[in-house]
Amino acid sequence: MKPEEPEKRIRAGIMGGTFDPIHMGHLILAERAKEQFHLDTVYFMPAGNPPHKRNRAGRADDEQRTEMVRLAIKSNPHFRLSLFEMNSDGFSYTYRTLEKLDREYPDTDFYFIMGADSLVDFDTWKEPQRIADAAHLVVATRNEMDPDAFDALLQQRQAQFHGDFLRLDTPNLDISSKHLREMIRSGESVRYYVPDEVREYIELNGIYRQTKDMVQEAQ
Ligand code: ATP
Ligand code: MG
Repeated sequence: MKPEEPEKRIRAGIMGGTFDPIHMGHLILAERAKEQFHLDTVYFMPAGNPPHKRNRAGRADDEQRTEMVRLAIKSNPHFRLSLFEMNSDGFSYTYRTLEKLDREYPDTDFYFIMGADSLVDFDTWKEPQRIADAAHLVVATRNEMDPDAFDALLQQRQAQFHGDFLRLDTPNLDISSKHLREMIRSGESVRYYVPDEVREYIELNGIYRQTKDMVQEAQ
């Protein structure tokens, strides 16, 4: 009798974010994570906004954020859009999402991708221990964080949660959605910061164009 082949586990990346708008930083992180951790697929999962945060002035609505993700990833066969967090009440905690995915896909290992700013905040997230139990955490540097400080933070989180905190090897990518919203508002070009299709969609729909006094940027 032939020995049974060991089961091949699927490796899936999760790139969560508000993607308001999606930009090259998100796309580079996902592609690097796919390569470094041999991921089969990376799922882009736009976070739903709770009802009171929808249709805010100067921001894209849920449908527009989703459409921008769709446009940004469509040329990459390893990237997929997931509407898992765009549910009817529009809001979902990361730990719930990851635990649900673990239950629904027992043959898949999940790699949750984030920037170092998210790792700094990690212990203020809802149920961080359950997040660390449910997925590998793949973290990219951000905001010119000192490399030694970054390694120390990864080790600190590892000791704190006994999870799998992995460093994604990327250069510092100096780009944020917040900065792009400000650039668009003041009429600057965001060409090359976002894929062309996303830039055209933003222009066509007049997203992020409200003048400064109409908009209070909420963090
Ligand atoms: P905002 O400025 O509105 O907060 P953002 O650029 O941080 O937007 P998010 O949608 O908040 O984008 O980010 C989703 C995830 O991607 C977060 O974990 C964030 O840390 C990470 N991320 C986004 N941009 C970068 C970047 N340039 N370098 C590293 N990580 C990034
Ligand atoms: Mg952010």
